[in-house]
Amino acid sequence: MEMVTGSVTRCDCHVSIISPPLPSQTTERFLISATLSTPRNFRRHRLHRRRSTATMFRFGSLMKNSVAKPKRITGTTNLLLTSLSRFSTASQGDPLLQEAQPSTLGPTKPDEKPRVVVLGSGWAGCRLMKGLDPNLYDIVCVSPRNHMVFTPLLASTCVGTLEFRSVAEPIARIQPAISRAPGSYFFLANCVGLDADSHEVHCETVTGVDGPNPLKTWKFNLSYDKLVIASGAQASTFGINGVKEHAIFLREVHHAQEIRRKLLLNLMLSDVPGISEEEKRRLLHCVVVGGGPTGVEFSGELSDFIMRDVHQRYAHVKDYIHVTLIEANEILSSFDDRLRRYAIKQLTTSGVRLVRGIVKDVKPQKLILSDDSEVPYGLLVWSTGVGPSPFVSSLQLPKAPGGRIGIDEWLRVPSVQDVFSIGDCSGFVESTGKQVLPALAQVAERQGKYLAEMLNKIGKAGGGRANSAKDIEIGDPFVYKHLGSMATIGRYKALVDLRESKEAKGLSIAGFASWFVWRSAYLTRVISWRNRFYVAINWLTTLVFGRDISRI
Ligand SMILES: Cc1cc2nc3c(=O)[nH]c(=O)nc-3n(C[C@H](O)[C@H](O)[C@H](O)COP(=O)(O)OP(=O)(O)OC[C@H]3O[C@@H](n4cnc5c(N)ncnc54)[C@H](O)[C@@H]3O)c2cc1C
Repeated sequence: MEMVTGSVTRCDCHVSIISPPLPSQTTERFLISATLSTPRNFRRHRLHRRRSTATMFRFGSLMKNSVAKPKRITGTTNLLLTSLSRFSTASQGDPLLQEAQPSTLGPTKPDEKPRVVVLGSGWAGCRLMKGLDPNLYDIVCVSPRNHMVFTPLLASTCVGTLEFRSVAEPIARIQPAISRAPGSYFFLANCVGLDADSHEVHCETVTGVDGPNPLKTWKFNLSYDKLVIASGAQASTFGINGVKEHAIFLREVHHAQEIRRKLLLNLMLSDVPGISEEEKRRLLHCVVVGGGPTGVEFSGELSDFIMRDVHQRYAHVKDYIHVTLIEANEILSSFDDRLRRYAIKQLTTSGVRLVRGIVKDVKPQKLILSDDSEVPYGLLVWSTGVGPSPFVSSLQLPKAPGGRIGIDEWLRVPSVQDVFSIGDCSGFVESTGKQVLPALAQVAERQGKYLAEMLNKIGKAGGGRANSAKDIEIGDPFVYKHLGSMATIGRYKALVDLRESKEAKGLSIAGFASWFVWRSAYLTRVISWRNRFYVAINWLTTLVFGRDISRI
């Protein structure tokens, strides 16, 4: 008997098919069950459900015995399905019309809990959701990713010191109510608009762009009682030509994956006969633009990778690979002079070439500096800070200096009811007399914690519903106290500055002890025990066996 095998992957759901040759319709039915995440597919699935069930019975015993058992559809797809069944649409019964008129998760009813809608699943949004009391609120998170990224360790994943999953924490683990409570959901979508008067946000699904037949996106609306905008910032390019097209940013897991693939590809290609000396040097020239903590940490990781793994496993090309770090001003300007000098010495000793310069143009294989000198590159990583995203800029809300969403000392957006903003996308409005806080995880996390406590307090006092919190005492304003900064610079060295500011007194050290403090601090801060375990095992594996250099 001939076996037909296949595999369908869509939004975290993986269905394997092992069956005897089936009529094409039957195979299609299996596919349908794996792609239920559009309203149209959901309906098609219902129409075919009875016949599909019969098919399942027919091949039940075979599937039970097969190695690759069909898995239950879980995670994001499941959440989307549950949610869709609760949506009201103007086009009941005709899924085609849904494209014209978006579905709506309407205002909460008196017998339901008030709904907090959180835009974003980063440091701020996740800390908020973790702290919100699911007995007081239904929590709905809208984000284009279903996990939080532990960004301080992201640079380590680019070269294989850590694996990607070790720094990604699923939202359902951070706030279990999101996947269990009947009125709480996660929606894989981007928020694209806000109607603050009618307490509604407009969203559009994220369906991925890979593959030959990408799913069509669709729009839906969500009513909220309280809205928290925690949609972060985006990498700044300063309008420099070619950055978006040719450079890789380092903000998300998929960026780290792209960097790792490109680096390994260039290493392998440079070993193939037929490549010229010049091209080999270009392919193996890794250029990092931006000398802040992220750019420096990534350069340090790269130089570690070169000194240990490339020298051992790509010995033929070890003398061709180089790292250049380009910065317009001082590197690590937030650290004091002594620590900065130490970092420069260490990086230079590790083979990182430091260049003071301003990039004015980026071409596919070279970048041009302001003095017209040309720097050929094979890998270009861009890390020059962040600015407001187009979504944040598009919102008709008060703005802080720099274009972030303006907030008062209680993290409320002034002049609109029930809207709050936290993390990198927000900043104090000028009238508060406070400075915009730095784009840091420690700011975002503490704002999330503060706001969760405040919303719980409001909910307990009966102010959870839309337009009902006016007379409720909300307590002290948010106060930020800087806990210090840390950065690794490679070769088991790091900088640790635990002072509130460069002028204040306190601990500021550099070297191996700091590296140990850095690792211990982040190991304890990783969100879950599962990821803490992954990180510890990855570090140990790298120490004993070296980094994984397979290009998958
Ligand atoms: C490589 C790297 C290393 C870092 N290291 C450190 C460090 O060591 N210490 C430190 O303090 N800080 C560090 N940071 C900075 C820190 O990560 C950020 O300040 C922090 O992530 C900000 O949190 P946030 O929740 O505001 O935004 P983010 O964490 O960026 O999260 C934003 C979320 O909003 C989602 N989103 C975006 N647009 C929309 C939309 N339209 N609708 C809905 N959702 C949307 C995003 O997908 C994401 O889930 C680092 C950053 C990077 C990139």
